[in-house]
Amino acid sequence: MTKIIDGKKISAEIKEECKGAIEQLKAQGKEVCLVVIQVGNDPASSVYVRNKTKTCDSIGMLSRTYELKEETTQEELLELIDELNQDDHVDGILVQLPLPKHINEDCVTQAILPEKDVDGFHNQNVGALLTGQDGFVSCTPAGIIELLKRSDIEIEGKNCVVVGRSNIVGKPMAVLLLKENGTVTICHSKTQNLREITKQADILIAAIGKPRFFDDSYIKDGAVVIDVGIHRNEGNKLCGDVDYEKVAPKASAITPVPGGVGPMTIAMLMHNCVKAAKNK
Ligand code: NDP
Repeated sequence: MTKIIDGKKISAEIKEECKGAIEQLKAQGKEVCLVVIQVGNDPASSVYVRNKTKTCDSIGMLSRTYELKEETTQEELLELIDELNQDDHVDGILVQLPLPKHINEDCVTQAILPEKDVDGFHNQNVGALLTGQDGFVSCTPAGIIELLKRSDIEIEGKNCVVVGRSNIVGKPMAVLLLKENGTVTICHSKTQNLREITKQADILIAAIGKPRFFDDSYIKDGAVVIDVGIHRNEGNKLCGDVDYEKVAPKASAITPVPGGVGPMTIAMLMHNCVKAAKNK
């Protein structure tokens, strides 16, 4: 029987833990506050921002949203970040990506104080992850580790194949699996014989951004399959990078889309904000 890894349930557990920690901090007179900045009005970004603030509300975390107009200059955005960096009431700062083309995303990401960088994108946090120091870890891969651990899936010694090498998903994912003593292979668009490599995977992480790319021919019998992709198919239904119908019968465990990795990203953002407040 294939185990369906329930991201909704596991993310609810994590949010409940965060709620408890926030109550404890409140009892000590401390509030936890996340600031979300959106530049322009990309509809998908607006949905993500609303979901983040709604989740904050639901666990007793304060949130503040800045909705800046599309024409906001990089200097204006950096000034706001500087103010928030210095504001003691602010624990976490998140700038919703993508930013308009005239703003350099890297410049903005690196301007956030590492101790308020709850997205885990600052070079100091990325470096900390690589060298095994404490810091903030990118929410999606951190959430995937929680999904695996809380589903009692052993990582140590397993062949882990990560397909995708982005800075926010693929690369940190590979480092986290390595930290858990997995044997890790990273694949990307220039990888030759991708299918031969993924067929060796005990744990496959699909993060390429191509709807239903991975069918059963990419999967080893009994593999654990984690689908990071989020797309709308022809019928406007959500689907992932994995062809769920074909892959699920072959896998020992699999994340559905929706209800798998997606909910974990916000839960880990909440977790990182609580951690920032505790560290203060
Ligand atoms: P990027 O577009 O930044 O990276 C995609 C990666 O996949 C690249 O490294 C690229 O290789 C690789 N790739 C593309 N096509 C192929 C292919 N045919 N074979 C092998 N490798 C390939 O995407 P992200 O990492 O940001 O996101 C990946 C997916 O996850 C997207 O669908 C995104 O929407 C989703 N996502 C979901 C989240 C969630 O909360 N569930 C959070 C973040 C992302 P190369 O480097 O060579 O170009």
